[in-house]
Amino acid sequence: MSEINELYQELILDHSKSPRNFRVLEAPDRKAEGYNPLCGDRITLYFQMAGDRIREITFQGLGCAICKASTSLMTVELKGKLKKEAEEVFRNFHAMLTGQEKNFDKAKLGKLAVFSGVSEFPVRVKCATLPWHTLHSALEGKQQTVSTESPSAEWTTG
Ligand code: ZN
Repeated sequence: MSEINELYQELILDHSKSPRNFRVLEAPDRKAEGYNPLCGDRITLYFQMAGDRIREITFQGLGCAICKASTSLMTVELKGKLKKEAEEVFRNFHAMLTGQEKNFDKAKLGKLAVFSGVSEFPVRVKCATLPWHTLHSALEGKQQTVSTESPSAEWTTG
């Protein structure tokens, strides 16, 4: 078990040190900003859509290791996915982080499953979910900055 944890930590460390898709996207179709005042994480997501499919997704910003790694892994997982597939991944990810074990399918999370340990640290859950709330806002076409401390940041699947 501890070997697995080490592997997970390595993956998070790797993505926080050398985040993937970490660049400004030229002429994005959509763009959204997310802010987590509790930690100071601040990110901007950029998208190019092809209909309902996420053709390209990149990000910029400053955040802690968990936030950066989570955003980096999210961009890797979601590139090429449909909007509704992205929502399904987030639903599972959110259930995992909030400890609703019955309600998620780890197999659907791919590498994002490395964040399962974060559920033990409620403050860090916001760091890990910030990019996802921001994604949701962008896909909904909202303009304002997403804050983890505002009720509008809540993801609704309905
Ligand atoms: Zn953070």
